[in-house]
Amino acid sequence: MPLLTHNILTVDVEDWYHVCTPEGAVPVPPRGSWRVRPNLERILTLLDEQRQKATFFMLGSVAESDPALAPMICAAGHEIASHGYSHRLVSALTPQQFREELQLTERIIMAQTGQRPVGYRAPQWSLTEQTGWAFAILREQGYLYDSSLNPLPFVGNSGGSRTPYILEGEGDVLWEIPPLVTRSWIGNLPTGGGWGFRFFPFRTVCAAIEALNREDHPAVLYLHPREVDRDGPRLELPALKRFVSYGTRTDAAPRLSELFRRYRFITLKEMVYEWQHVS
Ligand SMILES: [Zn+2]
Repeated sequence: MPLLTHNILTVDVEDWYHVCTPEGAVPVPPRGSWRVRPNLERILTLLDEQRQKATFFMLGSVAESDPALAPMICAAGHEIASHGYSHRLVSALTPQQFREELQLTERIIMAQTGQRPVGYRAPQWSLTEQTGWAFAILREQGYLYDSSLNPLPFVGNSGGSRTPYILEGEGDVLWEIPPLVTRSWIGNLPTGGGWGFRFFPFRTVCAAIEALNREDHPAVLYLHPREVDRDGPRLELPALKRFVSYGTRTDAAPRLSELFRRYRFITLKEMVYEWQHVS
């Protein structure tokens, strides 16, 4: 039976300074410089205007620092999933530390919203084949899906699947849901998020979404709150890292609005439930 095709907006809920530098995480700046709440409110307003739903991968430490964020997202009918606690790369954690980050974030979100996350995304696409042990821990902790394997060169696995699939392994079903990319002669391009989403012509992004939809696959976009904050603060980073982390100064909001007008967006959890029902 063919599936109804919807698309997904995912938001990694973190602040402007949650960028992994070669030296690791940067110290938390003073509270007065935090920008995550106004940026999040802007994204929620855009979604609400077009009656669309999204999945928010919440960083546990951010939820803990501002306990109003997760309830605000939940009250608007969106899904809260987990982005870990500290934003340390999965490759820098031991399996036990990874498990503890999941559990801590889950406890915070449960206490604030009463909802348990069923999806996970690693900081900076850092769950790779080298950290494959993490999948068994996600299953053990009752997760239904992961959205960490990006089919891109450098930050992910350029030969990886561009469409959702069930990960091999013992135990319950665990879906892998990769973000949208566009195939090109120089390799896959990040049209689904980050600098690519704001940099490539808008028609290229739409063409990528529609190409997947024609094959009955969802397009999964990804966004950070800092990307709708044109004049927000930026870390001093090497030029390439700065571009990849912050892109150009372009505001992603107008593009998001237009996409919400053109396509229908649901949460990853809804989509996974739909697949489980059909299969
Ligand atoms: Zn992140």
